[in-house]
Amino acid sequence: RVWNFSAGPAALPEEVLRQAAEEMLDWHGAGMGVMEMSHRGKEFVSIAEAAEADLRELLAVPANYRVLFMQGGAIAENAIIPLNLMGGKGTADYVLTGSWSVKSHKEAGRYGRVHVAASAEASGYTTVPALESWQLSADPAYLFTCTNETIGGVEYPFEPDLARIGRAGVPVVADMSSHILSRVIDVAKYGLIFGGAQKNIGPAGLTIVIVREDLLGRAMPHCPSAFDYKTVAEAGSMYNTPPTYAIYVAGLVFQWLRRQGGVAAIEARNVAKARLLYDYLDGSGFYENRVDPACRSRMNVPFFLRDESLNDAFLAGAKEAGLVQLKGHKSVGGMRASIYNAMPIEGVAALVDYMKAFAARHG
Ligand code: PLP
Repeated sequence: RVWNFSAGPAALPEEVLRQAAEEMLDWHGAGMGVMEMSHRGKEFVSIAEAAEADLRELLAVPANYRVLFMQGGAIAENAIIPLNLMGGKGTADYVLTGSWSVKSHKEAGRYGRVHVAASAEASGYTTVPALESWQLSADPAYLFTCTNETIGGVEYPFEPDLARIGRAGVPVVADMSSHILSRVIDVAKYGLIFGGAQKNIGPAGLTIVIVREDLLGRAMPHCPSAFDYKTVAEAGSMYNTPPTYAIYVAGLVFQWLRRQGGVAAIEARNVAKARLLYDYLDGSGFYENRVDPACRSRMNVPFFLRDESLNDAFLAGAKEAGLVQLKGHKSVGGMRASIYNAMPIEGVAALVDYMKAFAARHG
């Protein structure tokens, strides 16, 4: 297998893929594979319950939060969130830190009034505005953040704890698609956490929503039933057929994470991986990363060759060396290495070795 630096869908732990392959035709003696099971049968219900329990344990989700397994990806949540939460108050606040939060803000504007509480636009979205500078509106339904901007490679170096600016009553919504389970978080600081699974959790098709119970039951009348958090929660995420196979593989990833020692242990490895790559970038005159060092993502590392005419040669050589999906997002250019939980430090070391050799040849 290659070292796969895709931003998503992204590499999964090899152990997980092997186990899924072994169980493909016959899951635990059921005589059928998970894809073929009724979502209401006892086998699949046990798989979904175990996945939820493991996720709860990994993130220490408090009892007054519901875990929902949904569909539509994080982009659908950009509409589903306002449809569920914006109704009563009519206004929601957004913190703009890059492409994803900008997109979320734009979509929410279709359902109510949106207010920009803070924006990093002036920096070219290379930083996160300090919490103390955020200007919330008078009575927003929620405050939206994207705590890891996958495209720009910008990650919050702090938790958006509104109690610190005297606004503890405003629920914080966080798009954690690309760094959920990569670092320890305090779920109680958020009203709602969501993310598409296809980066740090499992296959595409599953969206995870962790929502505080008091935020259920506020949906606008025209919110589709299948996207009404209360309906989904009351049906145990089985109001409609959930993405069963994706939930199963996510469950295998949660078990794998527990075997790695849980989120704190994987966070320590993620810190070491990111340090290896950023230290090399910073010390090299050949490559550069342009993100505010305090807000650099541990998961998505965009970088540029100072001589961009070498980009194609860099990518072709990387592929030959077994390092793939390094091309940067089209809106940013350059390169991007996504180094999610499933990427071992050996993969990052292989990338750094290749980068050194390439720089030596062309520098
Ligand atoms: N939000 C973030 C932070 C992302 O990285 C992505 C990535 O694709 C999305 C939203 C969109 O997710 P989806 O394609 O699952 O709708």
